[in-house]
Amino acid sequence: MRVVLLGPPGAGKGTQAQIIAGRLNVPAISTGDIFRANVTGQTELGQQAKAYMDAGDLVPDELTVAMVSERLAEPDAKAGFLLDGFPRTIAQAEQLRDSLTDLGHRLDCVLELVVDEDELVRRLSGRVVVVDGKPVQRDDDKPETVRHRLEVYRRQTAPLSGWYAQEGLLATIDAIGEIDEVTGRALGALGAADADDDGTAGQPAAR
Ligand code: AMP
Repeated sequence: MRVVLLGPPGAGKGTQAQIIAGRLNVPAISTGDIFRANVTGQTELGQQAKAYMDAGDLVPDELTVAMVSERLAEPDAKAGFLLDGFPRTIAQAEQLRDSLTDLGHRLDCVLELVVDEDELVRRLSGRVVVVDGKPVQRDDDKPETVRHRLEVYRRQTAPLSGWYAQEGLLATIDAIGEIDEVTGRALGALGAADADDDGTAGQPAAR
């Protein structure tokens, strides 16, 4: 399956992406993770992306789209993928659609994780990630950057929800609850999308 996970920062996309991709047996591709690896590795891409990331802004579309196209061309993504954090603008979504069309593919489902904003701020401000074995706060999880990232989401990424609904690809789930409850909802929604595609109604999505 070819799936996009959509949702604001703090909705749990990263956690769910890992679990769902494992169940679908496709790679989870996180643009945020790829950018962070490039920053850590001090690559040219990392140096170009860092200032945008630190400010909580989006990295320009040209850089992001080129990076994702390269990643999607790798052999493990040929049969399917789960994208986490991409697309984040309508222009990125159009580019993704066009490059998949060129390859004779299309997305199967865009799964939107819905969490209200108070909960997002609470989750992000308390979020801890492990770097070199030590718990740290991500630079862009500082309270003022969190507010800005949510604003960027509202302005630039939230419109994708309506855009994908029009394309007939959107499934929306409530992403508040225990991790496995949310996973269950996600797999249920993906199972329905899968059934639409190939007539295997009632088959579990996970294989
Ligand atoms: P994330 O881990 O998905 O929250 O991404 C962290 C940061 O990486 C974002 O705040 C952006 O600066 C950058 N980033 C990740 N994905 C994208 C994207 N699709 N378009 C532009 N910037 C992105």
